[in-house]
Amino acid sequence: MSCGTIYDRLEQSHCACGKGVVIRHSYKRMGFRNRSENGYYGEEIKCNACSRKYHIEHNKIHNSYPSWEGDGIIDTPYLIPNGMTLKHDVSQNNLYFYFDLDEKIVSYLEKDKLQNVFDDMIKNKSNTRLKLAESKGIVELYYQRYHKRRLQNIIMLLQKCICDYDSYEWTFEKMQEHKMKEQQRINANIQIINNTLAQSYKLEFTEHRNYEPQGEKNEGVLGYI
Ligand SMILES: [Zn+2]
Repeated sequence: MSCGTIYDRLEQSHCACGKGVVIRHSYKRMGFRNRSENGYYGEEIKCNACSRKYHIEHNKIHNSYPSWEGDGIIDTPYLIPNGMTLKHDVSQNNLYFYFDLDEKIVSYLEKDKLQNVFDDMIKNKSNTRLKLAESKGIVELYYQRYHKRRLQNIIMLLQKCICDYDSYEWTFEKMQEHKMKEQQRINANIQIINNTLAQSYKLEFTEHRNYEPQGEKNEGVLGYI
């Protein structure tokens, strides 16, 4: 099938008070490589009472199931009380991204564990004979960065990490504390979002074929019959 619109239709949902409706246009079209694309536009609260009290926001949850169709995002629209919002950051602030390898190693293990890894490498001399799981983890970190597993180079790097351990900004202990605070921040934001959702009205759109727009009639408007 070539690119183009499969449908573009008017949909409506009840509003929170039940005396009016919320409308939107929903579409599906074929994009590149035969991938279908769903979307919506033109959302509008058609109720005087509700439009004074609420605004529309979408609760988007990323679905991790690989078999999920589309882009893997579950998108649920709500009428949210004015003054409240779902826009609170619940993503992990991942510091590792900016780290050099030595910084990453120092944030990954405590100093005494790094010393154990160092001893393991000195004693066993080959990365196939290493005894500790942590040693293998460090070798993998090194491999991810340099695509090599030369133990001699890793030992030199470890020596630097152990000697200068306390001068690093993000030691293992500081990283654990940071992660705990991040988790607390995320949990607090999830709590705020859940409280907001509890006071909000979930919109459930269905196709509407006989929509009569209020005011001026506009021939040819999609969905108007
Ligand atoms: Zn209403």
